[in-house]
Amino acid sequence: MVMRRIEHWVGGEAVEGGNGRTGPVWDPATGVQQAQVSLASEEEVNRAVQVARQAFPGWRAMPSSRRSDILFRFRELLDANRKELAALITSEHGKTAADALGEVARGIENVEFACGAQQLLKGEYSEQVSTGVDVYSIRQPLGVVAGITPFNFPAMVPLWMLANALACGNTFVLKPSEKDPSTSLLLAHLLKDSGVPAGVFNVVNGDREAVEALLAAPDVAAVSFVGSTPIARHIYEVGTHAGKRVQALGGAKNHMVVLPDADIDLAADAAVSAGYGSAGERCMAISVVVAVGAAADLLVGAIAARLPKLRVGPGSDPDSDMGPLITAEHRERVASYLDAGRAAGAEVVVDGRHHDVPTSGFFLGPSLVDGVQPDMQVYRDEIFGPIVSVVRVETYDEALQLVNANPYGNGTAIFTRDGGAARQFQFDCQVGMVGINVPIPVPVASYSFGGWKDSLFGDTHMYGPDGVRFYTRAKVVTSRWPDPASSTVDLGFPRTR
Ligand code: NAD
Repeated sequence: MVMRRIEHWVGGEAVEGGNGRTGPVWDPATGVQQAQVSLASEEEVNRAVQVARQAFPGWRAMPSSRRSDILFRFRELLDANRKELAALITSEHGKTAADALGEVARGIENVEFACGAQQLLKGEYSEQVSTGVDVYSIRQPLGVVAGITPFNFPAMVPLWMLANALACGNTFVLKPSEKDPSTSLLLAHLLKDSGVPAGVFNVVNGDREAVEALLAAPDVAAVSFVGSTPIARHIYEVGTHAGKRVQALGGAKNHMVVLPDADIDLAADAAVSAGYGSAGERCMAISVVVAVGAAADLLVGAIAARLPKLRVGPGSDPDSDMGPLITAEHRERVASYLDAGRAAGAEVVVDGRHHDVPTSGFFLGPSLVDGVQPDMQVYRDEIFGPIVSVVRVETYDEALQLVNANPYGNGTAIFTRDGGAARQFQFDCQVGMVGINVPIPVPVASYSFGGWKDSLFGDTHMYGPDGVRFYTRAKVVTSRWPDPASSTVDLGFPRTR
């Protein structure tokens, strides 16, 4: 059987990879390779960048109202293709159809935000700061911008980037994850059908080689990256060294603090959906539950009681609550933390390896590990799988110290009935996104998304108002015009005013 080939998208059409290098694309629910993706060489990346460069003047010159028209059409096509997008996500990533539809919905929000680009690109104007002198600001696109995205949100994260980038008048080269590349190509088709001119949006599939080529390309003005912390740091260092504007979002270890007065059932439901949804492969997943005082025993019992009821199966099965992990290697790596945790002295309350899961595919059941200490590997590493650790502390202050001592600072949540405690926590925690009785506080598209510390390298958060700032350069104009009354030609103005 000939293996299906996933190609690039350059200049408004599919382009075959020419160097023979490919990577496998699995169906994580069966464990069978379903396609191979072309991995671009430096030369192929540079060609795509040049195509985007040539498309830039025309796209930039297009009236912003027409760009908005195109984005409105794109929004309608995304809406009409929700199910197709979700099915593609599920087939390569493995997440459940409900999760995949949720991802598409969150992505569409970003397009809706970008449809209002005229409002977002408005400058400021100060009249008569001196005699005949006005000052005003304008925002202009950067040129060719690149997006490098992770496997875990193959539709939403590209939409976080491309919607604002295109609305602001930039042209775009996307390097999606080589693990689930097909969704990007469907997005490219939909953009074309919306009226985006050839060359404005391009996809180069690839691995490290393609990424390094984008970082080295002189015509790439800016890079948006989302992925793990070591790669984010590398992208930021190399990209900024090459003079590019870079925003690089990294990994996470999100803590959910549960105070003794919390509604334990509400907190347990939240921990289960936020810890095991999408098999824990979310950068905003809850990875550590910090149980304060008397909350601990009740909460561990309540979470443990819920786990056997989770149905683990193919994402395409509407009865599944949780799908497989992305690859066999990742599944093994995640499962290894259970033995490491036990060896370090933690208690594996629920071991996902004993869960009822399909025999083929990269499945791992949900696990709960209690008595975790901050020096254990199971606490320190980003596991990115369906394992929730419980750290028991005695006081709010201890919980806060734990959150703030962690090198990551993407998201956190507090569960309590005490408004004063919640209010204090939102101010005290050193984390970019905070939930109060909300376990996954991903901001809506009219705010921006970003963590602190090792979860983000750069100054601007992603999408929302920060996205518009990132994808534009500010310019301030100071202008002087003489009083028309002083004109040597009689313009009909009174001589004295
Ligand atoms: P990853 O870092 O392995 O890959 C991300 C991108 O970088 C991919 O396009 C990949 O091809 C590329 N890449 C991988 N290795 C590279 C290398 N050595 N040099 C250059 N490029 C390289 O991440 P992933 O496994 O695809 O995604 C999961 C990670 O992403 C997790 O750490 C998760 O927390 C993080 N993530 C963060 C956010 C956020 O908003 N902060 C959102 C989603 C995912």
